[in-house]
Amino acid sequence: MKFHLTILGSSSATPTSDRYPSSQILNISDKLYLVDCGEATQIQLRRYKFKIQKINHIFISHLHGDHYLGITGLLSTMSILGRTTTLHIYSSHLLKDIIDLQIKISDIHLGYALEYHFLKYDASELLLTDKNTSIYSFPLTHRIPTCGFLFINSVKEKNIIREFLQKEQLTFDEIKKIKVGEDYITGDGRIIKNQDITMAKSKPVSYAYCADTMYDESVVPYITGVDLLYHEATFMHNMSDAAREKQHSTTIDAANIALKANVKQLIIGHYSARYTELEPILKEAQSVFANTILAIEGKTYYLSD
Ligand SMILES: [Zn+2]
Ligand SMILES: [Zn+2]
Repeated sequence: MKFHLTILGSSSATPTSDRYPSSQILNISDKLYLVDCGEATQIQLRRYKFKIQKINHIFISHLHGDHYLGITGLLSTMSILGRTTTLHIYSSHLLKDIIDLQIKISDIHLGYALEYHFLKYDASELLLTDKNTSIYSFPLTHRIPTCGFLFINSVKEKNIIREFLQKEQLTFDEIKKIKVGEDYITGDGRIIKNQDITMAKSKPVSYAYCADTMYDESVVPYITGVDLLYHEATFMHNMSDAAREKQHSTTIDAANIALKANVKQLIIGHYSARYTELEPILKEAQSVFANTILAIEGKTYYLSD
């Protein structure tokens, strides 16, 4: 059950020569999900050899330029390269207005449909669910309406334990029902509980994306216990006043949220362009939450193989 995260951009408002505005791509069971689409996202996708036509879902956290200014270019390239498959965009309704205007003025004719799913910014919402993957949005606290996203992959079907399979002569239909969680009724009417004869195929894997948010503990219930939490850390601790004023977070803020949410690992990013060295940023976050790593362009993080 593949669950890979690749960072395409780790910079905040302004890029540097080697850091790009926010964007990341998740490969979950060979499906690609793009999360934010700052400038240069399509260039980064090419650089790291992602097949852009395999992206069917794009999630835009909010409408500060460093999170969406790359989207119209990407949409146009997809069309030029012959895309016909519908593309789903999860965003503010205002992004549709922006894209519609750009497409109209530039006389772009997309060869495929865009299907928008407008985000709610006041409560968590299930955005998408398929066989094994569920994707939720949840509210963040920033200067304009902003959402985080939670990705959970779990193999819902169960395995039937071998001893039981060998003992009972199960029909195909009975096997199917047990695998999806039903109890088994024996020939003489005894009920055998599903949990006594099955085991989960694998543990669920989860990733939460908290981009552009000030320190706010109200996010904790949405992200508790995730395997990997991305939390922005625009500033170091000595700039906490600037962080409050701009409704961003510091290294210590991100680490405290990770601690309170009891996550397994924290990945920080959205670094201010003022920082040329990232090691001090990492050390500062690790002083509060030891299992912290840095978001680095082009690096892939393997939550599950
Ligand atoms: Zn930003
Ligand atoms: Zn922002």
